[in-house]
Amino acid sequence: MTEYVIIGDGISGSSAAETLREEDPDSDITVITDEGEPLYNRILIKEHAKGKLPEAPISIHDEDWYDERDIDLSLNTHVTTIDPDEKIVHIHEDENISYDKLLIATGGTPTQLPVQNSDAEGVHHFWTFQDARAIKESAESADDAVVVGAGLLGIDFAAVCGAQGVSGKYLMRGDRWWRYALSADGAEIMHNGMRDVGVEPVFDSGVDHFETDDDGQVTAAVDPSGERYECDFAGVAIGLTFNTEFLYETGLEMDNGIVVDEYMETNLEDVYAAGDITRFYDVLLGDQAQNGSWGSAKEQGRVAATNMAADEQEEEFQWVSSYSITHFDFPFLSFGHPTLGDEHAERRYSDTEWRRVAFKDGKIVGGVLIGDLSPQSTFKQLMREQRKVADQAEILLEQSVDIDKLAPAQEQ
Ligand SMILES: Cc1cc2nc3c(=O)[nH]c(=O)nc-3n(C[C@H](O)[C@H](O)[C@H](O)COP(=O)(O)OP(=O)(O)OC[C@H]3O[C@@H](n4cnc5c(N)ncnc54)[C@H](O)[C@@H]3O)c2cc1C
Repeated sequence: MTEYVIIGDGISGSSAAETLREEDPDSDITVITDEGEPLYNRILIKEHAKGKLPEAPISIHDEDWYDERDIDLSLNTHVTTIDPDEKIVHIHEDENISYDKLLIATGGTPTQLPVQNSDAEGVHHFWTFQDARAIKESAESADDAVVVGAGLLGIDFAAVCGAQGVSGKYLMRGDRWWRYALSADGAEIMHNGMRDVGVEPVFDSGVDHFETDDDGQVTAAVDPSGERYECDFAGVAIGLTFNTEFLYETGLEMDNGIVVDEYMETNLEDVYAAGDITRFYDVLLGDQAQNGSWGSAKEQGRVAATNMAADEQEEEFQWVSSYSITHFDFPFLSFGHPTLGDEHAERRYSDTEWRRVAFKDGKIVGGVLIGDLSPQSTFKQLMREQRKVADQAEILLEQSVDIDKLAPAQEQ
């Protein structure tokens, strides 16, 4: 009987456990997580922090779900190291768990701002349900907020401020939100969305340090030019630090994340990885890539488990990810790898509609849609087909994209 151990009960670890049980009904499956609750919907915790959703619908599995599938779930259990030669996982309680096949699905932890008082009361990071509960409580009693980190997670803090009636200043390092994926035209729409919910973008700014009162509660953020922004709530979302510290000196190949091939296999025998933590071989991109999104993490968990159970490289990971923002009056969707590529095409259609498509070697590798998401399935299809279409960008930028107008696909 094969013993499978999965570290992490996020969506990638949990979907792997479910797949393993289906593919290998007689196996032993252990899932280890250092969180105190089984899988919940990480995407929805922002709605809880906004005060828009109670706790119950956010939970995905209760402990019975694991019992019913004969999956051994260890909550509040931190893995301290692994021994790939002996095939053993060490946990904080001086206990060893042996495995035949191991999946590492440990995701990341928000990076702290390396500035004075970044651990003050009222300064929040956003990753767990516990974080969301604390953010909700803090935002409910706050008057003024500062948000730092001009990316997909930072904007959730801005939305929390808006929904909780907190007056916010969104401090950004450059001249716009998510400058790696959006031009000034696209970003302007997002800035207006922020203003509409009561959050003011502040450009060419940042945090030099936080000020606190005698109780250690944050009272202000001071930017590098000395400008002071009063706040009793601060949201910091400047990136993720991958949870790999327990893997040092194991010989596991890492490159800001765990390196896996398209089968989710690492360089160590019988060790696989899935989810945010991987730097995987993206067969559509033809290169190593990273992905921080729910759908991609779920699919990586499923593919890893399929290959673990099959005892051979049975299925490769092939996926176009997407990430949507629904905080404003207009929808927003990024797909694929919008910050990669060697050229791009973009157009603004109205005050709330904008589109950008990124190409690499003539093929679509990602993009951003604001206001009108209708072309998303066409663009994803072209990505999956790996069609060379960069020279026909005009057709892709027409308000309504007609795939039949494109020149027929050539043999690549
Ligand atoms: C506020 C927020 C909003 C988001 N919104 C969206 C969205 O709209 N759309 C979208 O696609 N994605 C969104 N995401 C991202 C998405 O949630 C992640 O990409 C996805 O959850 C990653 O899943 P994962 O299983 O790889 O990792 P995680 O969910 O991070 O799970 C990893 C688990 O491993 C545990 N762990 C780590 N180290 C150890 C250890 N040593 N021992 C034991 N356990 C350990 C962690 O505690 C954690 O429970 C959002 C994320 C957040 C935080």
